[in-house]
Amino acid sequence: MNIPKLLLVVPCYNEQEILNSTYSKLKVYLQSLREKSVIDNDSKICFVNDGSRDKTWHIIEQICTNDNQVIGIKLSRNFGHQSALVAGLLENKDLFDCYISIDADLQDDIQAIDGMLEKYMNGSKVVYGVRSDRTTDSWFKRITAETFYKLMLSMGVPVVYNHADFRLLDNQVLRELANFNEVNLFLRGIIPTIGFESDKVYYKRLEREAGETKYPLKKMLIFAWNGITAFSTFPMRAVLWFGIFNFLIALSIGVYVLTSKFLGYTVEGWTSIVLPMAFFSGSDMIAIGLIGEYMGKIYEEVKGRPRYIIDRIENQEK
Ligand code: UDP
Ligand code: MG
Repeated sequence: MNIPKLLLVVPCYNEQEILNSTYSKLKVYLQSLREKSVIDNDSKICFVNDGSRDKTWHIIEQICTNDNQVIGIKLSRNFGHQSALVAGLLENKDLFDCYISIDADLQDDIQAIDGMLEKYMNGSKVVYGVRSDRTTDSWFKRITAETFYKLMLSMGVPVVYNHADFRLLDNQVLRELANFNEVNLFLRGIIPTIGFESDKVYYKRLEREAGETKYPLKKMLIFAWNGITAFSTFPMRAVLWFGIFNFLIALSIGVYVLTSKFLGYTVEGWTSIVLPMAFFSGSDMIAIGLIGEYMGKIYEEVKGRPRYIIDRIENQEK
């Protein structure tokens, strides 16, 4: 196998505080890999500006002017982490041998890239970076994140436990990814769905050095909900079980009502009508809401809107 030409894909949203330091660290690291002949000299970094409202794009432009081994992509607005990542990957499809996606804050330890490349050379087409240690995360982040993976797995969503979006992909896998046209992109589920030889490397998650998280609780919940409804029919099945449960309750209420009637206890019967009515109309609403959730998904997919729109690209040879 030849020495691979690597592209590092870095999505950036309001990362002005950290971008220059991230760039320097990645550059030094790539240079050391080149010197060890682990990667091709033409390996590059691609920064994707995901509609930042600060100076992020300005910084990327400056970097691109001084360094032609950096590609800058500017999306027309904020499309979200997943779409920014896919933009960086797909816009560079077939130009590199393998791709590693990594967050701009370098919380995912770049030292793990060595291990990823080693596994790649041993034939893995996908290498997942897995967090073996989350002690640097706040307890809240740790608990919510771990619950997220457990919940996903229990509902049959094919995610890798404690793996976020730090991973290596072979160009062949990227070509297959390009065939997934869904708008609700949940890469952590799609990549395992694509298949191919895969392996894992473990690393310790580091602290964010500057700037703050771009994933507040609200965004995390939306992300988890998207992952579940894009991959699992569990919520729909849960509605069915809930319906069966309701039916059993309705039966016992029926027994109670009939017994009361035959024993001659029936009064106006207002409570026994209004209470179940309220209860069952409530549960119907839940069921309809959940079905609506899936219909909403179908609606979005049917529209087939582009997942991202490029404003412009710098320093890319095509
Ligand atoms: N990000 C992005 N678009 C967004 C939100 C985040 O491109 O709408 C990028 C962000 O710049 C970073 C990565 O996604 O490179 C992960 O975000 P962050 O580090 O804030 O998430 P956390 O590590 O706190 O989960
Ligand atoms: Mg981070």
